[in-house]
Amino acid sequence: HAKRSGRGKVMVYTREMEEAARRVTHIEQALRRAVAAEEVEPHFQPIVELKTGHVIGFEALARWTDRDLGVIPPNVFIPIAEERGIIGALSQLLLRKATETARNWPDELFLSFNLSPSQLVDQNTAQQVLAILARTGFDPRRLEIEITETGLMTDPASAEKIVNDLRAVGIRVSLDDFGTGQSSLGRLREFHFDKLKIDRSFVSSILEDKPSEHIIRAILAMCEGLGMNVVAEGIEEEAQADRLVEFGCAGGQGYLFGKPSDAEATMAYLREAYRGMVRDRRRG
Ligand code: C2E
Ligand code: MG
Ligand code: MG
Ligand code: MG
Repeated sequence: HAKRSGRGKVMVYTREMEEAARRVTHIEQALRRAVAAEEVEPHFQPIVELKTGHVIGFEALARWTDRDLGVIPPNVFIPIAEERGIIGALSQLLLRKATETARNWPDELFLSFNLSPSQLVDQNTAQQVLAILARTGFDPRRLEIEITETGLMTDPASAEKIVNDLRAVGIRVSLDDFGTGQSSLGRLREFHFDKLKIDRSFVSSILEDKPSEHIIRAILAMCEGLGMNVVAEGIEEEAQADRLVEFGCAGGQGYLFGKPSDAEATMAYLREAYRGMVRDRRRG
């Protein structure tokens, strides 16, 4: 009996594995088609100056709704795109669309764009980014690239060369999701980042959790010392924003200030925000 149930378990396990593999392949095929048909879209989430709430830029975040599979979140399709060699084409499509949108925003606003770890081992990446900027006419000095510590680990020398090529034309580089994954403070000595993004996990517990508060304050002190800008991610409540301002955090991003929204809604948001700023200036 034991043997039989043992074998049964193995069979169930195998079937689940097969199903998961089939689903990944299904998503891969649908994604290839969607990229070719240019159906994956960047949405844009505001990044604000915390003290005033004024928008200073937007992060582009990929959105995809497949006609058969429905909405597939980026946490699902980005890793598949990486594994199956689609990330280059996908990323180029997204950067082109994002810069075509962002070039219509007021000049002082930046666009922040995520690069995947596998793109930092591919020496074509920098050239591809520059070619897209040339094509869409987007000023490189308005572009920020977000990378994670994972992206720097596989091949640090390759990553460093890509980062340097991007910085040479004025593109800024941010370290995303700081505090998660394989954090190494040594990395902050080797690489020069313009900005550090504090991971949402610290922000979401800042009010209840003393360790999170201490970690955030330490990160802010370190950024100040190293001359790095800082943005706290995942701010959902006014009280969290107040606390971060109190600790001296300059930048913020999160549902409190706006969810990611499409190009058109972003333009409407900007019209509202700029009307508000004109009013503020008149008052002040
Ligand atoms: P990320 O770069 O750290 O992006 C921030 C994520 O936090 C986004 O999830 C955003 O929608 C979410 N977020 C922002 N504010 C809040 C908040 O107040 N509360 C909560 N609960 N969540 C918030 P999203 O859009 O699902 O993207 C997930 C991840 O997928 C991104 O994390 C990034 O690593 C990756 N990703 C998204 N778009 C792209 C892309 O175009 N290229 C690459 N390579 N990766 C991308
Ligand atoms: Mg990001
Ligand atoms: Mg992040
Ligand atoms: Mg993240």
